Amino acid sequence: MNMSRYLVPMSSLLVVMFILLACAPPAPATAPATAPTAPASTMPVAQPSATPVAVADTPTPSPTSLAIISLTPAASTAPLAVLSQTYDDPAGFWSIRYPAGWTIRQSGSETQFRPTESSPAFLGVSLHVKARDVDAFTQSIVDLLRSRAAAWQTVDDGPTPAAWAPGRQIHYRRTVDGAEQAGTLVCFVRYRIGYVLLSEGPVATADSTTASFVAVMDSFQPADFADVVPYDQWSVLLTELDYLSFHSPADSTPARDIQRIAAAYDEAYADNAAYLGVRLDRLVDVYLYPTRDMRYHMTARDAGFAMIPEYEVHSLWADDEQQTPGHEVVHVLTGNGWGEAGEALLGEGIAVWLDHSGRDHHQEAADLLVSDQLYPVRDLLGDGWFQRDGAITYPEAGSLVGFMLESFGVSKFKRIYLASDFEAELQTAVGWTLPELEAAWHDYLHQH
Ligand SMILES: [Zn+2]
Repeated sequence: MNMSRYLVPMSSLLVVMFILLACAPPAPATAPATAPTAPASTMPVAQPSATPVAVADTPTPSPTSLAIISLTPAASTAPLAVLSQTYDDPAGFWSIRYPAGWTIRQSGSETQFRPTESSPAFLGVSLHVKARDVDAFTQSIVDLLRSRAAAWQTVDDGPTPAAWAPGRQIHYRRTVDGAEQAGTLVCFVRYRIGYVLLSEGPVATADSTTASFVAVMDSFQPADFADVVPYDQWSVLLTELDYLSFHSPADSTPARDIQRIAAAYDEAYADNAAYLGVRLDRLVDVYLYPTRDMRYHMTARDAGFAMIPEYEVHSLWADDEQQTPGHEVVHVLTGNGWGEAGEALLGEGIAVWLDHSGRDHHQEAADLLVSDQLYPVRDLLGDGWFQRDGAITYPEAGSLVGFMLESFGVSKFKRIYLASDFEAELQTAVGWTLPELEAAWHDYLHQH
């Protein structure tokens, strides 16, 4: 390997590694763990993963590998595992190599690798959507890990030397459920996808597998999708109104349609900003993808979305399917101009209602009502929103919010939208109970 590339990060890492290796007995990598049971994953469902502290057993890390802590094999007294197996992420975003006999399990969105089923030490890999800035992303993961720990110590924190993405690598100790854990966290961001590699295990038993974890982590490779065009190669077009900035790959469908797209977005933006009483003080960046696959490969999302704090919209503009010019921008307008919706039902509903699609949202809801497919509104509150069929919930929310806006006006709707207690504020602001609102809305739809 080219040592000069890694001199800075390695200098501190080597020290950490030495400490960890020093307390690890020279048992074979495949030896059964001494800890009785494996702790449940310490990561939340949406927040995975991991990377280890160990000695690489791989011959020579490729220049594009993580090269986390690549000591020469001679530096370790522990036998080095042979990474004879390859795990390919089913979604195609990454692959990693690991020793034969290791177990793989899914914990939420995290894929975990362990030397044995009962090993308390593990390495986890997970992807996170809506990531842009690697430092902010890393901090969000650290905050999460710290939130579950009685004590936390950052041992070191620095850039990863990986060539394919900017990243951070943090070694830490934390105490969870009375047990001191040593961990390595590697976070990086590619396009708008955050990657987390996390390895963690008890300090007391750390351990014979440390070297193997490092080797496994070092073998991590993100996929290079043929259809991805990095954002820095996209074209940028400012509209004359100067509050929207469009981005698309050159010579793509959105690039060719950009004048028509800009006109539609400008109209929707101007109408909605005025209607909502919102004036944003910065540009909204609109990323237009020419294919679903490209959007997925660059965002890990299979639908359009808004990154509200970043003032970004990610949307599909393909030959055969174009997202509306209003929906995602309304999320940016309301999210930054009003605040976070107390209910996803209302946050999505207003984005549907103001989507400038030209569709009759009340007619769509009326059709669903007649065919008895509308959900009871109460079922769509809180997490209930996320557990129902989006093909019903979106048009239902759009019509319900439209009815509320038409009935109560924007300012009273805004109070209800922002309230943490939807039903209480509905009562306070307009004197209606939820059943009264639902009945009035259904009556309206029957006459629509
Ligand atoms: Zn939405």
